[in-house]
Amino acid sequence: MISKIRIFLLLAFFCASKSYAVLKVMASTENLKTVVKEIGGAHVEVESYCKGNQDPHYLEAKPSFMIKTHQADLVIAMGLELEVAWLPKVLSGGRNLKVMKGKKGYLEVGPLLDVLEVHTGHITRADGDVHPDGNPHVDLDPIRIGQIGKHVAARLALLDSKNKGVYEANAQKLMERMEAKTKVWAKRIAATGTKKIVTYHKTLTYFIDRFGLQSAAILEPLPGVPPTAAHILDVIKVAKQAGVKLTLVENIYDDSVAKRVAKELPGMRVVKVPISVGGRQDILKLDDVFEALVVAFEGDSK
Ligand SMILES: [Zn+2]
Repeated sequence: MISKIRIFLLLAFFCASKSYAVLKVMASTENLKTVVKEIGGAHVEVESYCKGNQDPHYLEAKPSFMIKTHQADLVIAMGLELEVAWLPKVLSGGRNLKVMKGKKGYLEVGPLLDVLEVHTGHITRADGDVHPDGNPHVDLDPIRIGQIGKHVAARLALLDSKNKGVYEANAQKLMERMEAKTKVWAKRIAATGTKKIVTYHKTLTYFIDRFGLQSAAILEPLPGVPPTAAHILDVIKVAKQAGVKLTLVENIYDDSVAKRVAKELPGMRVVKVPISVGGRQDILKLDDVFEALVVAFEGDSK
């Protein structure tokens, strides 16, 4: 009898200590969640607020988000104002001092990277939903994904020092894999001969920069502002002059405007592309996101 009790107590202790050891992480997006999962492995339990088919700029601050935030050890966001419309509400509703801005349990990865499109001048409402600290879509560059992995590893190690070696090794692996694949993706894109593209939003700025491409035009007249008739005419003019043959519509947006534009431009292809893990049924890893983007270019030559 005593031994049975002892076994039960040992089991209870084991289960309790095991669940205690797992870090509960909330990531703002599915791409960040995937990085955390890859770095933290079995030592983390991670969920995302924004799913792969949702727009991370405008998410509803649901009560369920606040409950999850209340229980989290760490909240990871992109920062650079990507989540400014909803994450502050979620954090204050979550009432968890551990994960408030400035605490060890809160990490914004964007500002730790080399940020593009930082605005230096004065910004007014007329500029649309401009992110003044720079373009927040840092996750659409595979090399920056590797760098995000390193920052995630450092923060997980700060909260759970005994697994520091595991986090660092996983981050190194992610970085090396992304570096190797980037070389292959770059060759494949270059082989298509397509350099200039049109996109809906400035989501692909870092991808375009990494692979030596050019953004010929953006269907949104201003960030967060739907295309106007006058702006659509401008896009058609610019795309025609530049001989653009590819429009990538991030699949969280509607592609009807892109299709209307394409009708005016012979040879223009419109491809809906996922920009996140879970953004399409077959996009299960970060590698799949970049692979889908590269395949969108290859459609030209195949
Ligand atoms: Zn944006």
